[in-house]
Amino acid sequence: MDLGIGGKWALVCASSKGLGRGCAEALAGEGVNLVMNARGAEALEAAADEIRAAHGVTVVTVAGDITTEAVRARAIAAAPQIDILVTNAGGPPPGLWSDWSRGDFLAALDQNMLTPIALMQAVLPGMIDRGWGRIVNITSQSVKAPIPQLGLSNTARTGLTGFVAGTARQVAGRGVAINNLLPGIHATDRADALDAPVAEREGITLDEARARRSASIPAGRYGTIEDFGAACAFLCSERAGFIVGQNLLLDGGAVNATL
Ligand code: NAP
Repeated sequence: MDLGIGGKWALVCASSKGLGRGCAEALAGEGVNLVMNARGAEALEAAADEIRAAHGVTVVTVAGDITTEAVRARAIAAAPQIDILVTNAGGPPPGLWSDWSRGDFLAALDQNMLTPIALMQAVLPGMIDRGWGRIVNITSQSVKAPIPQLGLSNTARTGLTGFVAGTARQVAGRGVAINNLLPGIHATDRADALDAPVAEREGITLDEARARRSASIPAGRYGTIEDFGAACAFLCSERAGFIVGQNLLLDGGAVNATL
C-alpha cells in the first residue's frame, strides 16, 4: 500500500532510540523528511546518518530536552513546515503511590502531558491552514490498564488522552487527524530499565525476567520498534484520515479486555 506521504515533513520527538526511532525509520521508509530530536547529540547524529543512508530522505537534527520551550521552538522551526508530528519523551520513574511528591507529579505532567500538548498547540494552526496534518502521541498501555508501579505514567498520560479526545474532534474537519499509540512492552532501553529491578528483586537474570514477562503476553514476545514504527507510519498516512481520536494498543494481546 502506498501511504501517500512521500515528501512530507515530520517532527519525531525523542527519536534517537527506541519507539521514536522506530517511528522515524518507518516514516523515512515512506519518503518522509524528518526532524529528529533527542538530548544526547552523539546517538542522535548516528541515528540520523543511518536513516539518511538507508532511505535517502532529508534529516535535520535538533539535540536537546523536548520538555523545554526553547528546544520545542527549535525543533518546529527546523523544517519548512510540520505536516506530521510524533510526540514522545522518556517515561516517569517507577515507584509506589505513596512515594511521590507534588514536584514528582509536576515533572511527570510536564514530560508526558504538557509537552505533547504544547507541541500540538504549536503545529496545529499550520496544519489547519494547509488543510492536512497527522499527529500521533506515544502514550502507554497504562492508559487502558493501569500499571501499579507506574502511577506517575498512569496519571499524566490519562490527562493527555483526555486532551486528545476533545481536540481531535475539533480539528478533524480541517484535515487533521490526531491519535494515540499505546505501547505495551517493547524491546527497548526503557523495557530493560523496568525489567532490571524485577530481576534484582527476584534474584534472576535479566533474560529470565524477560522470559517470564514474555510468557505472560499472548503473542509470546516483546514488541519490536519495527512493529511500532509500522503502526505509526500508517496512522500518519493519507490512508488514515478517517481515524480520529483513537487509542491504538500495541501490546501483543497483553491487556485482557474485550474493547
Ligand atoms: P528508550 O528506548 O529509552 O528511548 C527513549 C528515547 O527518547 C531516546 O532516544 C532518548 O534519547 C529520548 N529522550 C528521552 N527523554 C527525552 C527528552 N526529554 N527530550 C528529548 N529526547 C528524549 O524509550 P522507549 O522504550 O522508546 O519509550 C518511549 C516512550 O514510550 C517512553 O515515554 C516510555 O515510557 C513509553 N513506553 C515504552 C514502553 C516500552 O515497553 N518500551 C511501554 C510503554 C510506554 P536521550 O536519552 O539522548 O534524550
